[in-house]
Amino acid sequence: MILILLGAPGVGKGTQGELISKHYNIPEISTGDILRSEVKNETELGKKAKVYMDKGELVPDDVIIGMMENRIKQNDCKNGFILDGFPRTVAQAEAFDRMLEKNNLELYKVLLIDVKEEEIISRLTGRRVCPNCGAVYHIKNKPPKEEGVCDNCGSKLIQRDDDKEEVVRNRLEVYKKNTMPLVDYYTKSSKLVKIEGSGEINDIFERIKKVLG
Ligand code: AMP
Repeated sequence: MILILLGAPGVGKGTQGELISKHYNIPEISTGDILRSEVKNETELGKKAKVYMDKGELVPDDVIIGMMENRIKQNDCKNGFILDGFPRTVAQAEAFDRMLEKNNLELYKVLLIDVKEEEIISRLTGRRVCPNCGAVYHIKNKPPKEEGVCDNCGSKLIQRDDDKEEVVRNRLEVYKKNTMPLVDYYTKSSKLVKIEGSGEINDIFERIKKVLG
């Protein structure tokens, strides 16, 4: 089962992707997570990507496409995978179609997770992450037991540079301009299903399971 999670930053693609991944036993591939790990390890790719990421801009298509070509060839992808954060431009979607065709694979569905803009801004600017274990919190909706400290590993929580308000607003503009056209792109191929993305995490997951069967 090959799935794409589509939607603005902050609609819960990562959260739902993780639940889908566990339930259906297929890996979740997040381009944002891969890039952040490259940045952390100070690789050539990471150094190049960081310049764009810090501003909330998109990393160039050729970099992302090459990275994804390698990733979906890995053994853990043989029974399918879920994409979180890719494709993000029409050029990436076209390149992904070519990758699928070349490998005789078929896209199952594109889940468009929909949340109102004001809620997205509050979700993202209130998000805090653990730089050590990757756990994600929210100052209001999912606070850690002790303020500013990770429940799992005790590390000090941080705010992602790109979760600062002005960067969040730019990421939303970038989404509207570059990624929204994919809604049309996948509607044409009848793969797109819209999911209401506000409410309880588990209720949203139930909606997704209904669609996936
Ligand atoms: P995310 O965690 O998905 O919001 O991604 C964080 C940042 O990584 C984005 O703001 C972009 O700078 C970069 N990024 C992630 N995925 C892509 C992609 N498919 N194309 C271009 N840039 C990306």
